[in-house]
Amino acid sequence: MSDCIFCKIAVGEIPSATVYEDEDFRVILDLNPASYGHALVIPKQHYENLMTIPEELAGKAMIVAKKVATVLKEVLPCDGYNILQNNGLCAGQTVFHFHIHLIPRRENDNVGLEWNHIALTDAMRDEILKKVEGKF
Ligand code: AMP
Ligand code: ZN
Repeated sequence: MSDCIFCKIAVGEIPSATVYEDEDFRVILDLNPASYGHALVIPKQHYENLMTIPEELAGKAMIVAKKVATVLKEVLPCDGYNILQNNGLCAGQTVFHFHIHLIPRRENDNVGLEWNHIALTDAMRDEILKKVEGKF
């Protein structure tokens, strides 16, 4: 994708604060972090989201997330981590090249990732379970 910023960053065409790199991924510091140490796992190949990235690469992405978050948790340091991955505009995706957020968390850090919970009604549960029946 010639106009994709993360394609350019991932292959090194645009410089970035790289904390980890291998054959398939680059992990960089987010330019506008949610917290100190917020990083992004970016595949070098362009896939828009979780639905289109091949299963094997998606699996590798989580292994990289684990590897890097484990090291960053030690060195930063922090008390916890959110691993977050947005798909679609309504879900907060702003860069349409698959990536995983690694967000270090600390007590009272004010990172706003909470949401309002709704109740899972019996009707809702039955409807959803019926919809997925036989799909896998
Ligand atoms: P999302 O909203 O899930 O698509 O996440 C995109 C993330 O990329 C945001 O947290 C941005 O701050 C970050 N971002 C956008 N452009 C850059 C860039 N050039 N370098 C580093 N991070 C970026
Ligand atoms: Zn891209």
